[in-house]
Amino acid sequence: MDERIKKHFMSLNTDPLQKKFGKNLIIKENLSKYSWFNLGGPADFFFRPENKDQLIEFLISIKKYNHKIHVLGAGSNTLIRDSGVKGVVIKLGSKFSNIKLLTKDTIEVGASTLDRKASSFAKNNSISGLEFLACIPGSIGGAITMNSGCYGSDMSKVLKSIRIVDYNGKEKEIKNDDIEFFYRGTNIPENYIILSAVLKGTISSKELIEKKEEKFIQQKKESQPSQIKTGGSTFKNTNEKKAWLLIKESGCDKYYIGDAKISEKHCNFFVNNGKATTAEIEQLINKVKKEVQNKTGVDLDLEIKIIGDEK
Ligand SMILES: Cc1cc2nc3c(=O)[nH]c(=O)nc-3n(C[C@H](O)[C@H](O)[C@H](O)COP(=O)(O)OP(=O)(O)OC[C@H]3O[C@@H](n4cnc5c(N)ncnc54)[C@H](O)[C@@H]3O)c2cc1C
Repeated sequence: MDERIKKHFMSLNTDPLQKKFGKNLIIKENLSKYSWFNLGGPADFFFRPENKDQLIEFLISIKKYNHKIHVLGAGSNTLIRDSGVKGVVIKLGSKFSNIKLLTKDTIEVGASTLDRKASSFAKNNSISGLEFLACIPGSIGGAITMNSGCYGSDMSKVLKSIRIVDYNGKEKEIKNDDIEFFYRGTNIPENYIILSAVLKGTISSKELIEKKEEKFIQQKKESQPSQIKTGGSTFKNTNEKKAWLLIKESGCDKYYIGDAKISEKHCNFFVNNGKATTAEIEQLINKVKKEVQNKTGVDLDLEIKIIGDEK
């Protein structure tokens, strides 16, 4: 750990919070294991609440410190900077992973539930509409925030409502109609932590759902790499063209910086090929963005979220 980071940690008064929240609060937790890129430095405070009440108690307790707060889902869309995250990272762990059948076509899902588990639960209850979630490696909280989707579906189409707690510890329910969804995003305020969601599909036959799901998974296998350290699509597609096509046409698809590479199978997937740093991945992102802008005039927008502090 470099001197600046060491000094920063020494300046934090961590004792009172650590006493109160015990093993659920880790100081200087290295974040790389919580990101699909397998990259990132330490968080000042890493909090994994035991339950909703403890989360609320924590939010109220830290208010006076004015720490910046980040919420992490499964980390499949997040690149964490090498110097880590000053402030608090909250990750809803397994205690927020649960699924309940509410009516025959409607389920309630905890925010940390993996998308594929929600999809599988829906399938087992003959609920169609959530098959696309079998292809997305994140959590339900991340999927809602990102309005994640593929093959013509996205979260906006299946989400009925969410339960949230804001950074002041206030809880409320928000209905789909009160959320604005757009391509890979929503207007849900950044200071809302999604606790759970109600998802609605349509009743169908289990066999048909299974077929649809298998088709999606196959399509994914053919078009996208697997078993790599990545955040999926780095840039958003534009209305006119897919981001990967713009990257390819601009001649950037073979660019690399150290071990920061671009997937041979899908050139919008940027990869930590083993020993990359976040700085190298970011340099590669910026290099590609600049070149695409020069060659095509298109200013690509990031789909992945980059968190943490620049040195
Ligand atoms: C191999 C691969 C394939 C992918 N394929 C697809 C695809 O087909 N379609 C697609 O849309 N995406 C895809 N992605 C991207 C990614 O999986 C999705 O964006 C996913 O929904 C992110 O979920 P997560 O839990 O990992 O979120 P994270 O990366 O942890 O977080 C993403 C954002 O959600 C916020 N967030 C997470 N949980 C909560 C919560 N409980 N409350 C409030 N905010 C929260 C975070 O603060 C952050 O802003 C892919 C990624 C990979 C690695």
